[in-house]
Amino acid sequence: MNALASQLRADTEAICYSDGRKVGTAGHERAKVHLKQRLSEIGCLPFSGDSFELPYEFKKQSFCNLIGRIPGKDSGLSPLLIGAHYDSVISHPCADDNAAAVAIALQAGRIIHEGGGLQRDVIIAIFDAEEPPYFLSDAMGSQRFYSDHVEGKTSIHAAVVMDLVGHDISVPGHMLGILPGVKWLELLLPGFGGKDFSVPHLSSGLFVTGSESHAELPDALRGIGQPDHLKVIATLNDYIGDVSDHGVFRRHGVPYWFLSCGQWAHYHMPTDTPDRLNYDKMAAITHYLLQMARSLDERELKGERKEEKVHDTIELEAAFLRSALGLFHGPVMRWAGLKEVKSRADMDQFAMKLLSTGLGML
Ligand SMILES: [Zn+2]
Repeated sequence: MNALASQLRADTEAICYSDGRKVGTAGHERAKVHLKQRLSEIGCLPFSGDSFELPYEFKKQSFCNLIGRIPGKDSGLSPLLIGAHYDSVISHPCADDNAAAVAIALQAGRIIHEGGGLQRDVIIAIFDAEEPPYFLSDAMGSQRFYSDHVEGKTSIHAAVVMDLVGHDISVPGHMLGILPGVKWLELLLPGFGGKDFSVPHLSSGLFVTGSESHAELPDALRGIGQPDHLKVIATLNDYIGDVSDHGVFRRHGVPYWFLSCGQWAHYHMPTDTPDRLNYDKMAAITHYLLQMARSLDERELKGERKEEKVHDTIELEAAFLRSALGLFHGPVMRWAGLKEVKSRADMDQFAMKLLSTGLGML
């Protein structure tokens, strides 16, 4: 494990309590105190006022977003936002959901600060109350941050939001038969079809949605290309929906990217523990996120900001799918009943097939 992976592990484990981080619990309070300290240590200033805490109430319950700012060279420019939620859905560690993403946001912020900052300010947003029963309600942290502190006050240049970014993508056993030379394993290992397997090439997959949110984003993502040690699959947000904190930015026409490794066997389960995460993969995602942040920082991202405006990204999606699948391209296409993905109709068919397996859904 490299130094960054070790730091990511420490930041993840630090908030993975056995009693979780559900809103209103002692664990939630403990995480809040710890994360405030970390925001300060990595070089953040408060986003507004003199505290990282931006508390709010809903139906007599108290919530708290934790929002810091890494000053850029020109704070007059509209800021970039890196975001992830810190609450947990159950009273268990919830490492992948979403301690891992919080750790990546903190380490990315630290590296940006140590590098002297970007041109514009970078907001490190650690949102509260993303999980049910608050999801998409007026208690949801990202929505409250937007309505209470952004709307009519400032403009966000672009947002990069993460959820479920700590794990290897695994393939359900029943799907492994599509891969060359794997079918005979079913004969040797009883019950093989009911398990999840990490496939070396595909385990490093990372889904990125949102390139359709601004005319310059497909170009920006292409410019970064396939990063080292990751297989990026660029896809439309429509295939998964507003499943996390990026939704509020999309709905307000803010250019955004949403990063996720999708659901896995431990999603919302007590078994989502820090020992099951891949910290080397998280380090690769941190580097990729930094490349995204620098690319967004340099671009003007001009034009009207409207939610309805969806830019055509089929070429980008097709190219990334082909390069991400590599050797698996042929068998995976056959499994999906396609020769290759060329048109939106092909991609719709591929996405539906993928989603029907439970893979890639959030
Ligand atoms: Zn969740």
